[in-house]
Amino acid sequence: MNEISRPNSLDAYWMPFSDNKYFKGDTSRMLARAEGMSYYTPDGKEVLDGTAGLWCCNAGHGRVEIKEAIQKQAAILDYAPTFQLGHPIAFEAAARIAEMTPEGMDRVFFTNSGSESADTALKIALAYHKARGDSGRVRMIGRERGYHGVGFGGMSVGGIGGNRKQFGALLPYVDHLPSTHLPAKNAFSRGLPHHGVELADTLENLVALHGAETIAAVMVEPVAGSTGVLVPPVGYLQRLREICDKYGILLIFDEVITGFGRLGTNFGAERLGVVPDIMTMAKGLTNAAVPMGAVAVKNGVYDTVVNGVAGGIEFFHGYTYSGHPLAAAAAIATLQLHQSEDLPGRAMAIEPYWQDAMHSMKDAPNVIDIRDFGLIGGIELSSRPGKPGARAMDVFRRCFDAGVLVRVTGDIVALSPPLIIEKPHVDRIVNTLTDAIRAEAA
Ligand code: PMP
Repeated sequence: MNEISRPNSLDAYWMPFSDNKYFKGDTSRMLARAEGMSYYTPDGKEVLDGTAGLWCCNAGHGRVEIKEAIQKQAAILDYAPTFQLGHPIAFEAAARIAEMTPEGMDRVFFTNSGSESADTALKIALAYHKARGDSGRVRMIGRERGYHGVGFGGMSVGGIGGNRKQFGALLPYVDHLPSTHLPAKNAFSRGLPHHGVELADTLENLVALHGAETIAAVMVEPVAGSTGVLVPPVGYLQRLREICDKYGILLIFDEVITGFGRLGTNFGAERLGVVPDIMTMAKGLTNAAVPMGAVAVKNGVYDTVVNGVAGGIEFFHGYTYSGHPLAAAAAIATLQLHQSEDLPGRAMAIEPYWQDAMHSMKDAPNVIDIRDFGLIGGIELSSRPGKPGARAMDVFRRCFDAGVLVRVTGDIVALSPPLIIEKPHVDRIVNTLTDAIRAEAA
């Protein structure tokens, strides 16, 4: 394969969530090409993808079926608006998603990203209560260490201090449940941890504090990914569902990571046995080949909003690129692959091997916790004194140099490989990571 040239200048591009000054001084980590389970640098060096890009290339890279669908669609219809107009492929993509969502969740709104999906879900919740004549329900409940993207809604309901502190007052009327992370009780749990179901009861405290009549929705990730793989305790999501039902509060699952096979089922809702009222998705929907997000809602939520307004536009919300033809084509091709290759089933089948592999790292130096569920793994390292994040960053660089891409958040190494992963890939990721953790400690 030919080498791909590096850019002449790195100055113009302000990179997101990056240490721009550092990166631009050391450009060794550039990805130029991808195929199957791997990336390739401009010099042709292979880097095994332990993170499916950013939790999104679930079907592996460079899938010909997706590429051809995008090319074909670009030649037929490059773009058409979906405000008061339609184009066939957007309806087809929505119908395919509705087939995969839990029963009775058959209405799908298109966005372009996980962040837009989060903000859309929050706005749907507000519009729903207003349409019911319950417009006092404006309060949103998120969770500490939750991540719902970077829009003002998702950022405010999200619970990551670093993502919020630069941006002033944020959305008003937001409160947070405690995170489900209980290291003293649950360290090195395999799958769902056994302690902490009672953390869901803190929702009762917030109801007592604010009054149920002020609360619109609770928004959580079934498994929190971006803040370092926080797996919900057994029974926790069921308990949240019960309390939401008791008080007429909508439950929103942010399935941007957990959707499309990551947990061995189409959505986390299915694996975890809890159906939310509203579900956000993005990433795996198009295998990330074209940006696209979506929000699925229970039919009753849609009916309430749509019937709650007499004539005219019912929901004053939407994006120029909602249901974009190229994204819709990519989604349909991706979801066909999911079905024909049974990607969720593949993930489920390899999960026991993955779990053993994750926990095989428990005796490596500085490892203080390992968490896993589905094809997700989190390896938490103790921090270097006074330098949080430095140890994991060192491990990340060592892994990359040794040809494996991992992701780090704070001092947690997060893994989420493409669902087409096979046992030798798992071994390579784990061996490389273990070596890197050992080398960092040496
Ligand atoms: N929600 C969750 C749960 C996510 O993990 C992410 C991205 N990691 C987002 C929302 C935001 O998605 P995007 O970056 O596409 O806006």
